[in-house]
Amino acid sequence: MTFTCTANDCGHRSTHEFSKRSYERGIVLVQCPQCKNRHLIADHLGWFKESTEDGKLKTIEDLLKARGEKVVRGRLGPDGDIEIEGE
Ligand SMILES: [Zn+2]
Repeated sequence: MTFTCTANDCGHRSTHEFSKRSYERGIVLVQCPQCKNRHLIADHLGWFKESTEDGKLKTIEDLLKARGEKVVRGRLGPDGDIEIEGE
């Protein structure tokens, strides 16, 4: 997909790839290569509903820790994108 950054004073366009399964059933976050902000594209697991109360995303490491020992299939791409396929 082509993503246009929504951060103030950025508006950078970038292209990201992720699996349909993650997009429809899991979690997808893309990182803007310009300002390095992460943007939530899909959250079917509801993880970020709990984590964005202060308007800031936790790091994925924090989230995984908070989720305990649950085994999750996901990946952190070299471009900073995060994709979690769901359970
Ligand atoms: Zn940006």
